[in-house]
Amino acid sequence: MEFTKEQILLRETVARFAREQVAPLAAEIDQKERFPRETFAKMSALGLLGLGIPEEYGGSGGGIVESCIVAEELARHCVSTSASWGAHVDLCAANICRNGTPEQKQRFLPDLASGRKLGGMAMTESEAGSDVLAMKTRAMEKGDFFVLNGTKTFITNGPVGDLFLVYATTDPKSRGKGITAFVVEKGFPGFSCGKEFEKLGWHGSPTGELVFEDCPVPRKNVIGTVNQGVKVLLSGLNSERLVISANCLGLARASLEDSVKYSRERKQFGKAISEFQMIGEKLARMAAKVEAVRCMLWSQALRMSQEGPAAMAFETACTKLLASETSLQNALDATQIFGGYGYIREFPVERYLRDARIMTIGAGTSEIMCQIISRELGKRI
Ligand SMILES: Cc1cc2nc3c(=O)[nH]c(=O)nc-3n(C[C@H](O)[C@H](O)[C@H](O)COP(=O)(O)OP(=O)(O)OC[C@H]3O[C@@H](n4cnc5c(N)ncnc54)[C@H](O)[C@@H]3O)c2cc1C
Repeated sequence: MEFTKEQILLRETVARFAREQVAPLAAEIDQKERFPRETFAKMSALGLLGLGIPEEYGGSGGGIVESCIVAEELARHCVSTSASWGAHVDLCAANICRNGTPEQKQRFLPDLASGRKLGGMAMTESEAGSDVLAMKTRAMEKGDFFVLNGTKTFITNGPVGDLFLVYATTDPKSRGKGITAFVVEKGFPGFSCGKEFEKLGWHGSPTGELVFEDCPVPRKNVIGTVNQGVKVLLSGLNSERLVISANCLGLARASLEDSVKYSRERKQFGKAISEFQMIGEKLARMAAKVEAVRCMLWSQALRMSQEGPAAMAFETACTKLLASETSLQNALDATQIFGGYGYIREFPVERYLRDARIMTIGAGTSEIMCQIISRELGKRI
């Protein structure tokens, strides 16, 4: 695919920003498990927090291609930063853009675009992960409000966010036909952040619970139609899979690029380890997979930018499956190429491995991606 001049400029700008402003903090926020607020302030100044939001609502415009460009370049240096950025821009703001009324967009988007408020999305519960439609968080209609009770778990930006797109059941007997999407903001009575989780990776991207105890949410905060929240949810899944694939691509590149440099410098038996055929083969396989993911991602992103996210379940599941498995395998290979240094914190590859582990789990596990792909195969072949 050919990128436009604006998209090429965006990539150059974000790549420079990530190299100069994001990379220097990556090890520190990982070790201290700290959310990098200062980076988000800088991203706000660059207009990156308003990506995908139309200019009339204070955003910078752009769509799925631009979101994937930013995700890839941020993830090349710090997946934590790109994960929190993705929850704000893609999981939260983009879905309000797609499904909100003009009045709702006017009310919510300018604060998200400017970074005055940080966004997130909450669908997962302790007993409703892959089977998300089994959610139990209840929203009871009461006059002009819906009263929410329940707990969401594993929510990216949960402990630091201000505004969340939350899914709850308005008709528990109807499962998928009884779910509604709401915007819930920090400060609503009965809404609090529960436990913050300690994790293997993504240390700079806080993950936590959201707790609702008789939390009144105004009817005007319903996104889409009551009982038809699944449409809102599904409208975001295919684009989420591409944005997370772009994160995986950035991370897989990081493993490859660092391994190429290290293997040229590291000498054993009197020569650079890159001269050993077995190391060369590893690098070649890592590079081939990066190229494959790149081709899949950009052809899907271009198609989605032209045709919209619907009807791309097969393609986005294939891309997410391959991209996430590549990021994990490349991180494993990188730690092998670095030898003992791949296991210690002086070099970033041990972080790449920890950060890659979630990629085959979050945004739909590999097993669920295979289920979607095999179901679609039944229709196609
Ligand atoms: C760091 C992090 C950030 C996250 N961010 C968010 C967020 O911002 N918002 C949000 O809503 N959620 C978020 N999640 C939740 C994430 O999307 C879920 O963890 C994921 O969907 C898997 O659900 P689960 O953990 O309950 O696993 P389960 O669904 O319990 O799966 C356990 C295992 O069973 C397998 N399995 C389940 N069903 C099937 C099946 N039908 N066929 C075959 N195998 C199956 C799975 O593939 C997996 O291997 C986050 C999670 C983490 C860890």
